[in-house]
Amino acid sequence: MNFSHCTKEQAVEQAARSGRWDDDLRAHAAACSVCADIALVVRFMQLDGELARREAGLPDPGRIWWKAHLREKQMAAERAVRPIAVCQRVACLWGTLTATSILVWEWPRLSSRLDGLKLLLHQAASPGSRPQTDLFAFIGGSLFLFLFSILITLYASWAEE
Ligand SMILES: [Zn+2]
Repeated sequence: MNFSHCTKEQAVEQAARSGRWDDDLRAHAAACSVCADIALVVRFMQLDGELARREAGLPDPGRIWWKAHLREKQMAAERAVRPIAVCQRVACLWGTLTATSILVWEWPRLSSRLDGLKLLLHQAASPGSRPQTDLFAFIGGSLFLFLFSILITLYASWAEE
């Protein structure tokens, strides 16, 4: 194979790539077979590249930018609320430990109250007996705490979503 060379190959290639030709270079490319081939190949490669980009179906750059911007905002928001989430978890753990400690600490009293509940149920089953008011307060308080803890749990799960 024998390749011919021309001193203006580089200039012709740059002009063909950019589309900015001066008159001398255009006249040279029309007269020189090497430079005419270079200009033709550069133009062919540009058209082929455009066709390949169209066939690849590249997404809209504006949409990519918008998604990246949105993602950046979401990450900033996550970073901003991270300390709050940590505090929430610590508070939940602290509340659980406190409730467990109180339950263990007060178990003897609660146990006697539960015995009272058994007695109340036994009395309720037998006719002519009167219920104990503090036992009703205990049952009502327990029910209130149970419902309150369910509400807190529901709120915590809702807030995480
Ligand atoms: Zn040439």
